[in-house]
Amino acid sequence: MRGTVDGLVLRETETGESDKLLTVLTAEYGKILICAKGARSMRSKNMSLCRLFTYGNFEYYEKNGMRWLAGGSVNDSFFKLNSDIEGFALAAYILEVASEITGEGVRAETVLKMTLNTLYAIENKLKPLDIIKGAYELFAADCSGFTPDVSGCYSCGCACADTMYLDVMNGSLVCQECRSAGSGGLPIPELDAYSARNILFPMNRAVLASVRYVLGARRERLFAFELKEENDIADFSRLGETYLHNHLERGFDTLDFFKTVKNK
Ligand SMILES: [Zn+2]
Repeated sequence: MRGTVDGLVLRETETGESDKLLTVLTAEYGKILICAKGARSMRSKNMSLCRLFTYGNFEYYEKNGMRWLAGGSVNDSFFKLNSDIEGFALAAYILEVASEITGEGVRAETVLKMTLNTLYAIENKLKPLDIIKGAYELFAADCSGFTPDVSGCYSCGCACADTMYLDVMNGSLVCQECRSAGSGGLPIPELDAYSARNILFPMNRAVLASVRYVLGARRERLFAFELKEENDIADFSRLGETYLHNHLERGFDTLDFFKTVKNK
């Protein structure tokens, strides 16, 4: 059986002497594997199609329960990412997150569209990288069903205080006053009585407004908010990863790489 599908290459693995196994994110089937015979050969006509970050149209045939690449064309290669190590590192992390939150055999229009928009934003430096990163991480948590309720303090209901805390594991907000009252003014221990991790992430008004914006925004407007202070941008980025990684219960090597190149 032959078929054709548009998709974004999330991962390329070398197999055999000159073959590649591609993990491709598609709207119709979620994550799929496509085996590309001879894709590593200099003579291969599919070389540019079979690269990380390539968004293309893949023609394939199915045999022995596998999809095999027959041909195709490149829609966008995001080639400018290759000339900027920080952008490249962040984009690689974004692809790893996209892969983590997408199953096989499920529809994934939203993740595909948002991931393409995010690569475009990184490539064209539409925003500081830490804003793009934090917004995508919150999107990924939201899209995986871990949406936090950031409407107001879960205890007293107040919507805004100078400092509000995101209770990471419970996905809720608590205000400074309720936090102090709840712990009798003592610092909250890292583990609660049920040995669950107790992570309270402090946010000022600007950071909280950005979190609310991202969780409420139409997807195509995800990055259309302003966060100016460097400390706020750093907090927003740290909040995104703390929230997402604690809910996915894993870390990402590509993020460690991004941090390494960013701090150079
Ligand atoms: Zn409160």
